[in-house]
Amino acid sequence: MSRDYDVIILGSGPAGFSCAMQSAKFDKKALIIEANESFLGGTWINTGTVPSKALRETASSIHRYTSQFGDEGIKPYDRFRMRDVLRYKDRVLATQNSEIKDSLIKNEVDTALGFGRILDAHTVEVSSQDGEKKRFTADHILISTGATSTKPDAFEIDHATVLDNRSILDIHYIPKQLVIVGTNVQAMEFATVFSALGTRVTVLNGQEDYMVFLDREIKEEFSAALDEARINIFNRTRVLQVGPNPLRNCTEVKYQDKDTEEMHVIETELVLYFGNRKPNSARLGLEELGIKTDGKGFIQVDANNQTNVPSIYAAGDVIGHPSLASVSFSQGRNASCHMFGISRMETESIIPYGIYAIPEIASVGLTEEEAKNQMGDVAVGRAYYRHLTKANIARTPRGMLKLVFEAESLRLLGVHIVGSGACDLIHIGQAVLNFGGSARYFLDTVHNYPTYSEAYRVAAFNGINYMYKGGQTYKDILKEE
Ligand SMILES: Cc1cc2nc3c(=O)[nH]c(=O)nc-3n(C[C@H](O)[C@H](O)[C@H](O)COP(=O)(O)OP(=O)(O)OC[C@H]3O[C@@H](n4cnc5c(N)ncnc54)[C@H](O)[C@@H]3O)c2cc1C
Repeated sequence: MSRDYDVIILGSGPAGFSCAMQSAKFDKKALIIEANESFLGGTWINTGTVPSKALRETASSIHRYTSQFGDEGIKPYDRFRMRDVLRYKDRVLATQNSEIKDSLIKNEVDTALGFGRILDAHTVEVSSQDGEKKRFTADHILISTGATSTKPDAFEIDHATVLDNRSILDIHYIPKQLVIVGTNVQAMEFATVFSALGTRVTVLNGQEDYMVFLDREIKEEFSAALDEARINIFNRTRVLQVGPNPLRNCTEVKYQDKDTEEMHVIETELVLYFGNRKPNSARLGLEELGIKTDGKGFIQVDANNQTNVPSIYAAGDVIGHPSLASVSFSQGRNASCHMFGISRMETESIIPYGIYAIPEIASVGLTEEEAKNQMGDVAVGRAYYRHLTKANIARTPRGMLKLVFEAESLRLLGVHIVGSGACDLIHIGQAVLNFGGSARYFLDTVHNYPTYSEAYRVAAFNGINYMYKGGQTYKDILKEE
């Protein structure tokens, strides 16, 4: 039966975009339906990844400037203007928006604006804001509708003094104080970004601790950076109320210590809230079609990103963890490959993680703790940024690169970095890891000097010293070749 399209994609974020592009490269006819009638690109370009990273870029430049030349006693918020910071971000977004449109046009991917709802295994209805409804059919459908943040229970987000990750991108001044509620990765990124702009940042975390998935020493080094930036983090807190105090011309945040039940009040200019991610899977017609979701509404898929209805696939944040643009791109391509009978692409099983705080954090593979639990005798090598010429030149002494490898074979098991450039540097380690390489690689290759990459060599030698203490010398290791 002839249908309108080979594939219809709901949502133009990274998962939908990459599925459309891959399908077009296979000479397939693709249609993207986007509910946001003003912008393509989803959370990725408009409200999440790109704007937050553009903001981070300016904050990082200001931070670098201050650490290289001093602040002359003037706080960044008195020296730099938020409107310049935002103008920079808006220029980045405009470029990205036109890039995505151009790519879709060049690759002859059609777009339809409006909310998409799946009527049956091959039909989608699009309802635009002006009330118009259209139906399209396709052999395959990809659901890549993303996720949104849950709302707080105890207070309202008014987008004036109490903000979320969208409204924080439109503030007109750099606040002197900011209280962040939540400690997911993005909360920590924003905490360091505003701290770099001179803002006094306090983080209220409901959990026992923050970023517990990190390698322990990397977390310690990052915590030291937070201390240097004078960012206060209070764990195990419950926010009870947020509201204006007109007498003191501020916003008050009332919170309770979950252990002692003691009440506290913080006065602040702005509050920034980060909730949990909730899938955009309602009103899509999933129940009628019997598409399986988990208890929270995340769509369940197999390794090909296929749902239990064979013509329907799902990718990106709507399927849950790890909820990253980087992974969503791969999932969208993966779905397209399977739809069109191209053997499953070799997506790396080891996903790298990047946290764009100041300093950055990145990791790939096993942490030291995980490696020890899984295989017992492992070795680690550390390089501290303060010993690197590049870090001395750039004045970025806070940081560490840590290699985790098998003690016997030196096979690399994990790489963990906190410090400038971590999110790029990690891919050197990822390549060695994915090719089954060992720490020897870093000993025997020349690294440009001065670079942060040199940390790999320094860490490898440091690890070998550890081996020496364990009874094996560097000479022994060379002889074993
Ligand atoms: C503040 C913040 C910072 C982030 N930083 C990073 C980062 O540095 N690195 C990283 O890898 N990830 C980052 N992420 C995560 C990343 O943005 C998401 O993982 C990614 O955007 C998910 O892609 P997606 O394709 O699933 O959906 P999205 O990008 O969310 O796009 C979904 C699209 O679907 C549309 N839609 C929804 N319902 C319908 C419907 N029924 N019909 C048609 N269209 C519909 C929406 O309007 C939206 O445009 C960040 C997220 C946030 C919030």
